[in-house]
Amino acid sequence: MGQKVGIPQGLLFFDYYPLWKEFFSELGAEIVLSSKTNKDILDRGVSTCVDEACLPVKVFHGHVCDLKDRVDYLFIPKFISIYKKEFICPKFLGLPEMIKNSIKDLPPIIDIHIDLRKSKINIVNSIIKGGKYFTPSLIKISSAYNKAFKYYEKYIKLLNQGIIPMDAIKMYNSSITHKTKDNDNKPKIMILGHSYNLYDEHISMNVIKKINNKGINIITPEMIDENKARKYSSKLPKRMFWSFGSKIIGSAFAIMEEIKLDGIVYVSSFGCGIDSILLDIIERRSRKETIPFTLLTIDEHTGEAGVNTRIEAFIDMIKWRKKNEAHISTHG
Ligand code: SF4
Repeated sequence: MGQKVGIPQGLLFFDYYPLWKEFFSELGAEIVLSSKTNKDILDRGVSTCVDEACLPVKVFHGHVCDLKDRVDYLFIPKFISIYKKEFICPKFLGLPEMIKNSIKDLPPIIDIHIDLRKSKINIVNSIIKGGKYFTPSLIKISSAYNKAFKYYEKYIKLLNQGIIPMDAIKMYNSSITHKTKDNDNKPKIMILGHSYNLYDEHISMNVIKKINNKGINIITPEMIDENKARKYSSKLPKRMFWSFGSKIIGSAFAIMEEIKLDGIVYVSSFGCGIDSILLDIIERRSRKETIPFTLLTIDEHTGEAGVNTRIEAFIDMIKWRKKNEAHISTHG
């Protein structure tokens, strides 16, 4: 068995896991995942992380605690920029340092820099740095990365076909014969938010499945092709320089224009500065298009019963509206 590389199931896990898994596996490493988020992970994250951090960053700390004693390395890349001339939230920039300062007795951290602000050249050096933990051969590293990138593209294709990341991760290794987005008469709700809030079943309290189980078709930002989302977000009067913002706003605008949407649910972490701007822009646009909008703000104190009630009330309203939309109101 190769050396064990621990990958925490938090933050950008749902965005890049297939890429990193394939890369390190090709280099002979054994991948160890933290457990899925649960109460213990949440509690350990809250107790080790600084109070000011948002919920997903606290949860990430919990995942590191869960992994640290059973791996040879922890993989915590330092994300600076994932798109030319754009940034992502500064919390990602300081993540490896935050972890080192908050949690004791850590194994060595592979903290390669992901910085595509100026060009893609930087990524080559980072990949080489990451690969050298396992082999001195540049040829092996390059071949492992090329192979991993192909898997990653396959994964993104699955997401664009309407498969949610939790399912796509399970199936990305198999042949591609999958369902596409349903095109029936069921109500359609777009669920917006950062991937680590939407797809982490504990953080989101399983909001995707809860809504889907009520006979609603769901659409999430990851189901929209990136170029299309960028085209729509470029229509904003000012350039959106946060990559997550561009993705969330662009995919919401694309869906609002292209299909008849019945509602929007935005899942946001309490205190997230980026979300406070995104959801305001999206809510204004949804009001203009008369699409019902609701916001679920989550933190470590959020109770599931309250979330369930909000979702049920929202869905009842949407179903009632859909049933009666052909009626002419007494006001004309
Ligand atoms: S974008 Fe918001 S939710 Fe995400 S890490 Fe930054 S502050 Fe937290």
